Amino acid sequence: MRDRYEVVVIGGGIVGVSVAYHLAARGITDVVLIERRQLTAGSTWHAAGGFHAINADTRVAELMHYTIGMYPTIEQESGQSVGLHLSGGLELAGTEERWRWLRSELAWVRTQGTDAYLVTPEEAAEMVPILDPSGFVGALFDPQEGNLDPNGATQAYAIAARRRGVEIVEHDRVTGLTPLSNGEWRVDTEQGPVGCAHVVNAAGLWARRVGRMAGVDHPIALMPHHFLVTEDIPAIAAIAGDMAAVTDLEGFTYLQKEGNGVLLGVYEQNPRHWTTDGAPWDYGMDLFPEEVDRIMPELSIGFERFPVLAETGIRRWVHGAMTFTPDGNPLVGPVEGIANYWAASGCMAGFSQCAGIGVAVANWIVDGDPGYDVFGMDVTRFGPYATSDRYLRETTRQFYARRFVMAYPNEELPAGRPLKTTPCYDAFAAANARFSVNWGLEVPLYFAPSSDFEETDTLGRSNAEPVVAEEVEAVRIAAGAYEIAQYARYEVTGSDAEAWLDRLVASRIPDVGRIRLAPMLNHRGHLMGDLSVSRLDERRFWLTGSYYLQDFHMRWFRQQLPPDGVDVRNVTEDRMGFSVSGPESRSILEGLSSDDVSNETLPFMAVREMDVGSARAVVGRISLTGELGYEIVVPNAHHRRLLDELREAGAPHGLRLIGDRALDSLRLEKGYGIWSAEYRQDCTPGMSGLDRYVAFDKGDFIGREAALAERDRGAAWRLVLLDVDAADADASTDEGIWIGDRRVGMVTSGAYGHHVNQSLALAYLKTDVAEAAPELTVFVVGEERTARILPEPPFDPKGERLREVLPVAGSAA
Ligand SMILES: Cc1cc2nc3c(=O)[nH]c(=O)nc-3n(C[C@H](O)[C@H](O)[C@H](O)COP(=O)(O)OP(=O)(O)OC[C@H]3O[C@@H](n4cnc5c(N)ncnc54)[C@H](O)[C@@H]3O)c2cc1C
Repeated sequence: MRDRYEVVVIGGGIVGVSVAYHLAARGITDVVLIERRQLTAGSTWHAAGGFHAINADTRVAELMHYTIGMYPTIEQESGQSVGLHLSGGLELAGTEERWRWLRSELAWVRTQGTDAYLVTPEEAAEMVPILDPSGFVGALFDPQEGNLDPNGATQAYAIAARRRGVEIVEHDRVTGLTPLSNGEWRVDTEQGPVGCAHVVNAAGLWARRVGRMAGVDHPIALMPHHFLVTEDIPAIAAIAGDMAAVTDLEGFTYLQKEGNGVLLGVYEQNPRHWTTDGAPWDYGMDLFPEEVDRIMPELSIGFERFPVLAETGIRRWVHGAMTFTPDGNPLVGPVEGIANYWAASGCMAGFSQCAGIGVAVANWIVDGDPGYDVFGMDVTRFGPYATSDRYLRETTRQFYARRFVMAYPNEELPAGRPLKTTPCYDAFAAANARFSVNWGLEVPLYFAPSSDFEETDTLGRSNAEPVVAEEVEAVRIAAGAYEIAQYARYEVTGSDAEAWLDRLVASRIPDVGRIRLAPMLNHRGHLMGDLSVSRLDERRFWLTGSYYLQDFHMRWFRQQLPPDGVDVRNVTEDRMGFSVSGPESRSILEGLSSDDVSNETLPFMAVREMDVGSARAVVGRISLTGELGYEIVVPNAHHRRLLDELREAGAPHGLRLIGDRALDSLRLEKGYGIWSAEYRQDCTPGMSGLDRYVAFDKGDFIGREAALAERDRGAAWRLVLLDVDAADADASTDEGIWIGDRRVGMVTSGAYGHHVNQSLALAYLKTDVAEAAPELTVFVVGEERTARILPEPPFDPKGERLREVLPVAGSAA
């Protein structure tokens, strides 16, 4: 081992070797991978080696496709067999509801470009001769599934990485990480210290311990997981080639061919934790004794589904440790506040995700950008709130037990909640609020008519929709108050603040007292944020963004190295308030303030400090509902009283509290996009329509060249608003849009427009299709629905309500 490398990768499991390989493939060969024992000596050696490409996040699914596609390449490059069996896999539905869900999943996976199809239980039993088809309604067959040899795959990546110049050092444990004043790292190991520019934590079962060496606390829990391998089964031995893998969704087991027998794995409903501290250092290539009693309920179902198992001997049990994050996806990328430390940790599905993680980390180190929209794996998607032992245990236990449990789009899961609440939480609860969660914070979804109202989990339109409709109508005819604690706020101050912001965002910087919508781009011209910039005085600005992007955005701001004359502070947890909108909103505000808030003195996109009720507030004339509206932001300590004062002043004007669901309906009636749906890292200003806020002529800003190039050649995709002939369900997200057999687009969000009485969806369409505006097909919960492009938003297309450009009395119509 030399004294210094460009990159030190800690950990020689399937993830670490993939990161090392991808770094070398991107031209960084000055890399050492340090492994405490031997390659595979964590979770990797005992894994079942199964892989698939289905993930609730389409972008993570894309990287899973990439991972599977890499195996033949790496096998060829290394000359080492990875034991690949691309057998395809069946997901079995045991109930009618699950069958409906699978049909909708089919439409969804076909959108990913996979040739999946549905089969009957009998057809499934032909593919898997030991399966008893009774008790199943049907199955989905996905050809992009299979299994491989975990050791072979790890060695293949290691061989290929070595050939490209990577050094691999085994039997050497990393014992300490020290950041140096020049931004580099000192890595202490059993064989002595080594310096490096970048350190990558791919320490798998030990990743939490390694993270803590660098001052980072990763939300990773370890839970033991079982599978068994049987003796030979004649019906399996008779199969010449591969056999489809099986996931019995209602039975909580998975099964794959293993030699002449099978491997049966269990996701039990009663899981247990091993530790949340990371594995002990002296943990070797060990297994836990099997706990058959604990998994017996699921095993019994497995033995019913595959009756031959009841009379087949068990050759071996594997009960090994596995890493889990609260949502089951890995933690990848640079950590906010810790320079040149990279996470490649928390990976539960290493054989589906290793190459996706490797390519993202390598691109990020080389280009400063992962090259894909990896937010679904980004380490910043969890804040410090997620690391407490109790929260981690509750959420990872929930994830494990629900691994195969059917998820409904309107379902709210209870683990770890309520965690973060605003001062208004109790008042909202008393007003029968039903809550969702945003980065650990409870946010009202809607306000139910009574305390005993129960929303039914459904794939279709929920029984809460009539309540949402009332909230929407209140905003359209009177006013609604929406809590904006779930907006993040950053205060930018200093003598160079304007110059720094001018480079950071693509829009012009507003004058004092004005707000501007400000797309923020990366160097590739892709969106990094849909911020608004409020200028409170010459040298004081507020940036407003999405609550759950706080670490993501602070990391980006810091990377853009503000000079000494700029201070960027995250003030999200210090300030909150309400967005009050609707035709009565000005009268309500007038009742709470002696300031003049007329259209002349506080016009659309103006911002001003003023008294509102008992608080000194920052009031911005802006709203997401398409109505005259104000965002009233106060110090936290005033937030609760502001609610009372708003309710009192608003009551005579018909003010109603509203939640996220109403806001979705209202914004779709106006065709407004939001972050994580219409605006994401894989979108550009041209495709999203945010180019109308880009000041191409203002001088240099991050991403300008790429944005100009896109403007010149035209965007390949276009964001459109669709009117969908829906029946009992609305589009939600990621549904494919088709013309015949040709996929031409994808839904980004959908909701029922309660005021305009239309089922609406925002979607990206290929530009030529968007221009031709043909009749389209959207699959909503698996059912084929017709959709048309709306040439303009169905509600107030000219924006007169928002801007208050009201017809002048007596003027010509
Ligand atoms: C029973 C079971 C079955 C599974 N089946 C599947 C499956 O079918 N498909 C699938 O995709 N996944 C499966 N998994 C999960 C899979 O094993 C993991 O996702 C994968 O192995 C994670 O790889 P990793 O490289 O992140 O971590 P690990 O394999 O844990 O590797 C981390 C490495 O880092 C080394 N290390 C740690 N700390 C240090 C240090 N301080 N210094 C130097 N080296 C260090 C360790 O020795 C280890 O080799 C299964 C897991 C279990 C338990």
